[in-house]
Amino acid sequence: MTTVRIQDPTVVVLIGAAGSGKSTLAARHFEPSEVVSSDAFRALVSGDEADQAASPVAFRILHRELERRLAAGLTTVVDATNARPDHRRPILARARAAGAGTVAIVLDLDPAEVHVRNASRSRVVDRAVVDRHLAAVRETVDADRLGPEGFTTVVVLRSTAMVDELVVDRHPDR
Ligand code: GDP
Ligand code: MG
Repeated sequence: MTTVRIQDPTVVVLIGAAGSGKSTLAARHFEPSEVVSSDAFRALVSGDEADQAASPVAFRILHRELERRLAAGLTTVVDATNARPDHRRPILARARAAGAGTVAIVLDLDPAEVHVRNASRSRVVDRAVVDRHLAAVRETVDADRLGPEGFTTVVVLRSTAMVDELVVDRHPDR
């Protein structure tokens, strides 16, 4: 069993390929209002959560919303692929500026399982894109990047059993 302790306010950064189960994990352990999602902001910007042309604006809004929530002392989950260092950096910078802790939860699952789940998603992501995500996640874990980047806690979930057994232990700041 893996237990992750969350002292509010914390920024929880989910890291995983499309289909790895980030949104499902977020919904299981956090309130909907605590989750900022790149898919949701792309949908807001363009009417289409898959529209990659909407990504720059969607991420500007996501970062601004993260800042606003941190200023209010609210724990926030970032539901995006977050597989590349340059995508994590602006999130870490905002958490640091607010004095909030940072928890990385990596969904490092069997690629075959991720492809099956992607195919079962409401919106199926191109297989080549999922392979790029999987490679970036692999590199992140194998090079042990997350601690040195500044995450206060790093949790790597290496199997569906570990995902199922995850316990989130919340400690409200009041
Ligand atoms: P995301 O793309 O990383 O946000 O992944 P989703 O949360 O959308 O999950 C992708 C697909 O896998 C969906 O069809 C989910 O229902 C399914 N899924 C997610 N988590 C689990 C899990 O723990 N067990 C099983 N069996 N399916 C899951
Ligand atoms: Mg999702």
